[in-house]
Amino acid sequence: MQMSKVVRFAAIMNLMRPIIVFDFDGTLTETDIGRALCERYADPGWQGPIRQWLSGEISFPEAQQRIWKTITVSGTELLAHAMTIGQLRRGAEHLFEAARAGAVDLVLASGGFDLYIEPVLGDRIKELRHFFYNHLQFSDRGIDAVFPHGDLACKSCGVCKGKVIERYLAPGQRVLFCGDGSSDRCATTTAGEIFAVTGSDFAEYCRINDVKHTAFDDFGTVLSEALR
Ligand SMILES: [Mg+2]
Ligand SMILES: [Zn+2]
Repeated sequence: MQMSKVVRFAAIMNLMRPIIVFDFDGTLTETDIGRALCERYADPGWQGPIRQWLSGEISFPEAQQRIWKTITVSGTELLAHAMTIGQLRRGAEHLFEAARAGAVDLVLASGGFDLYIEPVLGDRIKELRHFFYNHLQFSDRGIDAVFPHGDLACKSCGVCKGKVIERYLAPGQRVLFCGDGSSDRCATTTAGEIFAVTGSDFAEYCRINDVKHTAFDDFGTVLSEALR
């Protein structure tokens, strides 16, 4: 059956729609845009705060604040580069189509930033039930990374994927999570169904820690499973 017919059928059959929670950088998009911007524009030592975060020394927001402080180019320049690398992953349009048809609910949970997330999503943002991401504030003092979702923070994350999933877990409610990176690890502590981008750090983390997961590189895989 054609994907669009499957989606329409599922929309009719699903009273309790599956919820798909997904990460943005390197998951919805092919490229981790935040990382690419840091690689290109931040201080060459930007991996230092990332290592401190991974070892538990500092939180994710603190690491991001230190890194973005070292970036001196304009928001316009950052955005221009983001848009050249902001292609969506294969099958992503099917996700939005399924949401439009009422077959699934979509929730974006990202440690990334509005500067590039909003323009890359464009009108697709209207198809999201909820979205959580962070803010880059530009001023004379440079760039401040602002994390407004304090209620979704854990000791490691600014937007904790585990806490986002838990918001939606209820009897009979399926919650699927899609991620690719180290900041997606908390998702594995919940009862969500885990999807990890093939070959990603998150897939490796799931493998090492014996977390049941499905590897994917096309959202068609996730959608088929959600509509099963
Ligand atoms: Mg990611
Ligand atoms: Zn967390």
